[in-house]
Amino acid sequence: MTDRLPGRLVLLGHPVAHSLSPLFQNAALRHAGIPLQYEAFDIPPERLTEAAARLRALGACGNVTVPHKEAFKACCDTVTPIAARVGAVNTFWTDDGALVGDNTDVGGFEEAVAQAFGASREWRRIALIGAGGAAAAVAAAAERRPGCAVTAWSRTPVRADTLAQRFPGLRAALSLEAALLDADLVVNATPLGLGGDDPFPVPIQALPRHACVFDLVYARGGTPWVLAARAAGHQGADGLGMLIAQGALAFERWFGRAPARDVMWAAATG
Ligand code: NAP
Repeated sequence: MTDRLPGRLVLLGHPVAHSLSPLFQNAALRHAGIPLQYEAFDIPPERLTEAAARLRALGACGNVTVPHKEAFKACCDTVTPIAARVGAVNTFWTDDGALVGDNTDVGGFEEAVAQAFGASREWRRIALIGAGGAAAAVAAAAERRPGCAVTAWSRTPVRADTLAQRFPGLRAALSLEAALLDADLVVNATPLGLGGDDPFPVPIQALPRHACVFDLVYARGGTPWVLAARAAGHQGADGLGMLIAQGALAFERWFGRAPARDVMWAAATG
């Protein structure tokens, strides 16, 4: 990042109105005394390239969310090694007229899991449910932990196979049961839980006895899956911690200083 303030600070998504990011990023900006507004823009996929060109010209920085993370990578002039590894960009800035893409979902996942279950906790086997962009971020995080194997299950098997080809430490499971075998951490990387009537990503009785659950989906007070897992004696956390952590890491990339995370939490949960 340069020392100058960015021309704009934006979130690109489609849809984007439901996002909590403007709430907690604007609270952090106010607290830091940074005279910028974090603005959410609903950009349909066919307008993403044009939006990226405008942002580059404006010297903007910001975030990218569903469904643009993978396509936005191609709009960037350069990407960080971790964004290249994941194949997706969720954070960007403009440096000397070049659009730089990064991925803070990986660090956000690592921080949130450490916060929820303890930083020194060792994970031997992660059962990863889903095989999209967020699953790739989890796979990239697991790759940074020696001795941590990942078994992925996806309802569309070819997506888990594709993930396994990209990440040597990841195996595609033939069934949900096989993915869960010996897992000490079960991660929901599907959107299941966003809809009120959604089934659980994994039935509670199918969870390995001592497994922790981490839901990338978040909900005020916890997602139903996490609440049910906790009621059955499992440790569990939803994705709010990851959302805040990836946002805090993005803030650091943009401004070269850490935001007040307690202010972000208060804004997101208040
Ligand atoms: P994505 O690229 O669209 O991938 C979604 C994955 O979930 C795919 O494997 C998809 O399988 C599967 N899936 C979709 N609907 C399903 C259903 N009804 N039943 C079973 N599997 C289903 O999405 P993503 O970007 O990876 O995001 C996944 C979730 O993570 C979203 O809810 C997103 O909001 C959340 N997320 C949270 C954070 C955070 O900070 N907390 C960060 C990133 C993402 P198919 O190929 O069969 O459709």
